Order: sequence, then C-alpha cells, then structure tokens
Amino acid sequence: MGRKLDLSGLTDEEAEHVLQVVQRDFSLRKKEEERLSEMKQKLDEEGNKCSILSKQQKFNEHCCIRCCSPFTFLINSKRQCQDCKYNICKSCSTYQKKEKAWICSVCQQAR
Ligand SMILES: [Zn+2]
Ligand SMILES: [Zn+2]
Repeated sequence: MGRKLDLSGLTDEEAEHVLQVVQRDFSLRKKEEERLSEMKQKLDEEGNKCSILSKQQKFNEHCCIRCCSPFTFLINSKRQCQDCKYNICKSCSTYQKKEKAWICSVCQQAR
C-alpha cells in the first residue's frame, strides 16, 4: 500500500477514512452498475422472446410468416410448414408428395 497519496493537510487517520469512503462508494457504484446491466440484459432477452413469440403465435395465427398476407378461409388457407412449423399461405408453400406435407419456400431452399 503506497502511503504517499497527495492528501496534504489531512492527518493519516483522516486520509485513511477518506480513502475508505471513496473505495466503498466506488464498489457500491460498481455493484449497482453490474446489477443494472444484468437487469438490462434480462429485459433485452425478455423483449426478444416476446417479439419472437408474437411473431410465432399471434401474428402467425392470422398471417403468413413468409409474405405477411392474411389468411382467409378457402381463398388463402393456412397451412403449416413441416420444417419450421410456421403457418404459411398457399403461394409460399409447396407440397411434398413424398412426405405428404407442406413446406415453405424458405425451408425448401434450405433443403
Ligand atoms: Zn405467404
Ligand atoms: Zn418452413
């Protein structure tokens, strides 16, 4: 521990006290910052989850995940992609005869 800090005018005891306060303040602030950034990260993750969920469930209940066109009974009927399990519309899907299932254009390209 270097004792030659420039705290002229203070006694050793006072200087020590000041140092302690500063250090405690610093570590408290650091803890607080860590806590905040952790919280922020959690919130971000939560936000991501939410947007993915809303895409998957609510949004995808009514609209095609690939072209965003709304599903309508018969005219643009909803079907589920075998690979990604998203709901897709007629024009975004292709029928796989072998598997007797629909897959979306994106998954087809990925195959
Ligand atoms: Zn579509
Ligand atoms: Zn797919």
